[in-house]
Amino acid sequence: MKNYILSIDQGTTSCRAIIFDKSGKTLGVGQMEFQQIFPKPSWVEHNPSEILAKQIECIKDAVKNAGIKAEEIACVGVTNQRETTVVWEKATGKPIYNAIVWQCRRTKDFADSLKEKMELFRLKTGLVPDAYFSGPKIRWILDNVPGARARAEKGELCFGTIDTWLIWNLTKEKNHATEGSNASRTMLFNINTMEWDDELLALIDVPKAVLPKVLPSNADFGTTNKELLGFEAPILANLGDQQAALFGQCCLDEGMAKCTYGTGSFLLANIGAKPRLAKGLLTTVGWQLAGKAPAYAFEGAIFIAGAAIQWLRDGLAIIESSTESEALAKSLPSNEGVYFVPALVGLGSPWWNSDVRGTIVGITRGTTRAHLVRAALEAMAYQVADVAEDMKANGISIKELRVDGGATKNEFLVQFQADVLKVPVLRASNVESTAWGVAALAGMTAGLIKDEAELDSLWQKDLKLSPAEDKAEQYGGWQAALKAAFACAEAQTPCKEKACSKS
Ligand code: ADP
Repeated sequence: MKNYILSIDQGTTSCRAIIFDKSGKTLGVGQMEFQQIFPKPSWVEHNPSEILAKQIECIKDAVKNAGIKAEEIACVGVTNQRETTVVWEKATGKPIYNAIVWQCRRTKDFADSLKEKMELFRLKTGLVPDAYFSGPKIRWILDNVPGARARAEKGELCFGTIDTWLIWNLTKEKNHATEGSNASRTMLFNINTMEWDDELLALIDVPKAVLPKVLPSNADFGTTNKELLGFEAPILANLGDQQAALFGQCCLDEGMAKCTYGTGSFLLANIGAKPRLAKGLLTTVGWQLAGKAPAYAFEGAIFIAGAAIQWLRDGLAIIESSTESEALAKSLPSNEGVYFVPALVGLGSPWWNSDVRGTIVGITRGTTRAHLVRAALEAMAYQVADVAEDMKANGISIKELRVDGGATKNEFLVQFQADVLKVPVLRASNVESTAWGVAALAGMTAGLIKDEAELDSLWQKDLKLSPAEDKAEQYGGWQAALKAAFACAEAQTPCKEKACSKS
């Protein structure tokens, strides 16, 4: 009997593979970290061949650890770090350059030059022109690898986000394909027509010949290559990681929202079948199932969340582990006026300002490491509240927030988030919302999970914290700290676009 679902979860710092049964129980996991390459300040690359090799090993490990036979895998789902860009040779499968990672800022100047066309990009793609997205990264590779542009125009090169790279390599058909949730992060894809857009391709100067086919998120993406993986099973789902988590958290109806707290935080709310724009937020494709209208989402992309705790640990060395942060924060009765705006790489949603830098305010002689730790945790909650405010102003009023991700182990954070948002916060008992989301979609496509109602019945929480204290005053303090951070950036970059203005 083929009863199991393999989830391939290719993240920013590690490759993972998980075997689930159809109730969402994890049977086995394989996980491997891979190299982060920093050729220059603010440049970030990955080696696509290393990612592929480690992903294959993880899949084998997951099967072994689950104690199942590989032939018992009914279907496969793929979820991935989004926006990260690979270009490879069609004939040999060799990447012509390292993968340019979503965090990489090398295309900032070009992306800034596109801000003149802000309205066009907003309307067609739901995005704000930014170095974060794939289109400018493809352009950079074609312009900087000798001969690449001419070869791309002749159809000799393929572009893919990591889902596409893995599907091309792992399927025996070598399918060159993606789907809407990943395509909608390129600045090249029209989310209204659900097609690559010629006008945007011309603006960013990307030849159409390099682009993958865009299939429904639950299409048949091909059959796994037995020689590589030891089994043949159809890949029946593909979603970018944040959209997979939205699906895994069963935010299937308009107005439902989830936030994943990892390196960064990503708050996504389902906005239904019609795309619309919200100031300061991205509009993105949640998923598009075969024969159905797409589901769209508002997204707040917050670049630094748990990474601020990492910085306190690895950069300042004032804590030994991220776990310690909870007790330290709770050791204080309040933040005592100390705020930390963790704009370590500028700020994403809702500000989209790359010039602003990390700012700590309110320090006194009595300030200790506990204050900085608490301020970093509080900042995670305030940043999410900033995004939720914009959602509210645009008709999506979050009634409860479903949360997941490594930092939600921290109950101080979860409670503080409930207090600041003034809504209950529910932590999913399946901590693997992302991996499960795409596995669940593959399982539904294969018929292992009957329908959305069955999927919904599988969702469970292990923690629900309701608002307990009024944090309006503290939230006001955060907004003042943000102003200070923006004022500082503005004073240093007088010629640039005015800081502190939402896009
Ligand atoms: P990612 O998938 O982005 O790598 P994870 O979901 O694995 O992230 O979460 C790891 C992040 O969460 C790290 O940035 C870490 O600092 C933070 N983190 C982990 N545990 C805690 C904790 N108990 N309190 C606060 N932050 C935490």
